[in-house]
Amino acid sequence: MSAAVQKKEKKAIRIVHIFGVFIIAMGIIALILIIGSSRVDKALVGMQESTDKYIVEENSISVMREVSDYLTEKCQAFISTGDVADAKAYFKEVDIDKNREASLEAVEPYGKDDVIYTSLKKALNSSNELAENEFYAMRLAAEGYGMSPAEIEDISKNLTDVKLTGEDQALTEQQKRLKARKMVFDDSYDNKKTEIWNSVLDSTERLMENTRQRELEYYNNARRNIIIQNILTVVLLSLVLVLAGLTARMVILPMRASTRYIQRDKALPLEGAAEYMYLAKEYNKMLEKTRAHHEILSYEATHDEMTSLYNRKFFEMKREELSGEDTALMFVDVDHFKSINDTYGHETGDKVLQKVSGILASSFRSEDFVCRIGGDEFAVLMVQMHPNLRHVIEGKIANVNNLLKNSGDDGLPDVTVSIGVAFGGEGTDANTPDELFNNADKALYKAKEAGRDRYAFYEDTVSV
Ligand code: GH3
Ligand code: MG
Repeated sequence: MSAAVQKKEKKAIRIVHIFGVFIIAMGIIALILIIGSSRVDKALVGMQESTDKYIVEENSISVMREVSDYLTEKCQAFISTGDVADAKAYFKEVDIDKNREASLEAVEPYGKDDVIYTSLKKALNSSNELAENEFYAMRLAAEGYGMSPAEIEDISKNLTDVKLTGEDQALTEQQKRLKARKMVFDDSYDNKKTEIWNSVLDSTERLMENTRQRELEYYNNARRNIIIQNILTVVLLSLVLVLAGLTARMVILPMRASTRYIQRDKALPLEGAAEYMYLAKEYNKMLEKTRAHHEILSYEATHDEMTSLYNRKFFEMKREELSGEDTALMFVDVDHFKSINDTYGHETGDKVLQKVSGILASSFRSEDFVCRIGGDEFAVLMVQMHPNLRHVIEGKIANVNNLLKNSGDDGLPDVTVSIGVAFGGEGTDANTPDELFNNADKALYKAKEAGRDRYAFYEDTVSV
């Protein structure tokens, strides 16, 4: 393997490594996305809870305020008119319904240090203080309206429990009613109520401010997370696209290109992912082996083993192939070869055949085909030959004979050859490959008959 190829191979990236890195990266991003989603979820739940708390606290504040106003109204109505129904309504709220206490309990789950809880508790305490004042005034009024202890007891035990000062007990009914009215209609009573509600109003404002603040925080948090999630989703999608692109570039495209190379029997280019390159390298090795094998097989199929000349099979094929073209066919047969074998042995006979083959092979152009078509019989197919080039062939025959006769001391017996030549192609006697074959054969026969060691052209006299 060349150094350049080795270097290239080292640089190649394994697609499994790419997949590994991408899958880890995508896993991390997916994890961050899941965490981000749960954060957004938390923020939404937070906003929801914040809103719920606001509704509950706001409701408690308004109940506290309405009930307190309701009590004031009933108290003032009873003191003004002496209508027992008003007093009973007042105490029904204080003793049984207890809506103020319920409204405080409603906000208790948010913690006893919650700003709304503490200010509502303060308001309830102040309201209770005011109620004691109201109880006293209502007791005065009850007596002022001449109610009997039984009637007072019937309104509420709270009213019976009120102990009037000796001074107040001594007042006349009219004075009692007057004092009672004064207690719940004077400025200090109003001031006390205003004071309670200012603190509640203040905490209402703070509640709104706090709620707004908290919701803004949750909203910003959710928004930030959603933006991060969007960015990460785009990154994730880009990673998927890049991974698909890399897979296409490093695996799919080289594989598709490979198909075309394989169809054309060509070696595969070494490119793309390491895994693919490994496959391509193995394929190329196999192709090289197959080619070498094929070359050997096709050489063996077309050549004669002993002389390395083309064999009879190749000759027959070429003869057909050159049909109709300007060609000359020359048959060469060793004279009395049988006696060489008989006299010197088969081995020497082989060497003689090899020598004749060598002389023939060196005497013709590379584009001509020198073949061994039988035991001591050779054929030479000369391309682009025409009867008017007969002298060229005669020159070659002279050269062959010359080489045969002056081969030096090679230890082999001298041999002569007989040669028959015929022309094929337009304007000649042979129109088909078979005619050409027969004509050359006839010419050879003529040369043999005339005494051997000579040549003859078809339809011509024999020449020595
Ligand atoms: P002619 O002048 O008429 O050609 O006489 P010839 O003795 O050469 O007769 P022919 O061409 O018919 O004989 C060819 C002989 O060549 C017959 C055979 O024993 C011999 N032969 C055929 N193939 C081989 C071979 O591969 N090696 C050797 N040593 N002899 C072979
Ligand atoms: Mg012979």
